[in-house]
Amino acid sequence: MARAVVLKEFGQPLELVDVPTPSAPEGGMVVRPLYAGICGTDLHLREGRLPVPTPITLGHEGLGVVHESRVEGFGAGDTVMWASSVSCGRCEQCARHREPTLCGERKTYGVNRDGAWADFIALQPGTTVVKTDVEPLAAMSLACAGPTMVHALGERRAVRVGERVVVQGAGPVGLAAAVLAQLSGGRVTIVGGPPGRLGLARELGIGEEWVDIGGEVEEADLVIECAGVPDAVAQGISMVRRGGAYLVVGQYTDAGDTVVNPHQIVRRQLSVYGSWAFSGAHLAEYVRLLPALTERFDLARLVTVYGLDEHEKAMADVAAGRVLKAVLAP
Ligand SMILES: [Zn+2]
Ligand SMILES: [Zn+2]
Repeated sequence: MARAVVLKEFGQPLELVDVPTPSAPEGGMVVRPLYAGICGTDLHLREGRLPVPTPITLGHEGLGVVHESRVEGFGAGDTVMWASSVSCGRCEQCARHREPTLCGERKTYGVNRDGAWADFIALQPGTTVVKTDVEPLAAMSLACAGPTMVHALGERRAVRVGERVVVQGAGPVGLAAAVLAQLSGGRVTIVGGPPGRLGLARELGIGEEWVDIGGEVEEADLVIECAGVPDAVAQGISMVRRGGAYLVVGQYTDAGDTVVNPHQIVRRQLSVYGSWAFSGAHLAEYVRLLPALTERFDLARLVTVYGLDEHEKAMADVAAGRVLKAVLAP
């Protein structure tokens, strides 16, 4: 038997239950998670804000050790990370537009397929799995924020060397944006809160300037929205220089409408981009970049570790913003 944290009923506490130990599916593997991340999406899932099947084991981010493999090139004992979503490869978005994150048939661990908040996770055929030897906590610090920003900055709007970049938001997505922008040669200002988060970013050298929400900032070539609050958008648009770009990433959950003045976009000739989630290729690129990131930034310091049985406390701490990045250690 093995333990798993299961969502049985929306709006109710999750339950730590005993489940059968999975065996590796043909073309897949079973991994023993060392760490499984908690993110804002998990809070929304518990509240039933997304239509997902129940009961389901949560956990769409993880790093672990292969327990049983039926995939060539992987064996028991390998340390791996895996992409949370598997696209179908056949639909119009996948096959014609080459946009796997927009696939309507996507299967996502911890969302519509059992996830990593457990002693074992079965990874199905088609999952992108990548070996890593980077310090596990550092790798987990930006487990889904990192690949999300690899997609946004790698394919939607890149940072050019020397550009002035403003990042709105000091959560994991904002910090992922900042470190990748810095690695690309951007000069980064982080606008966000609470002050403790900005202080930690400053201590770790993430960003070069740190400003409270509502504070004055110089106009930027590129502003990256990682706040997740609709009202941040009008403010973000006002921070872009004439001819600059605005990249919206943080509005992952539909938090409603906001007021923007579209004349600003035309008059100041702005380029506005959106970026949705990430694919297996983006996770692989994140893992490839990890040594360069960890050499420059002490990312493990962003993470707080909880036992599997502390899942409710961990979720409460995430909800209250008491921790920057929470992970469960099964
Ligand atoms: Zn996540
Ligand atoms: Zn598809």
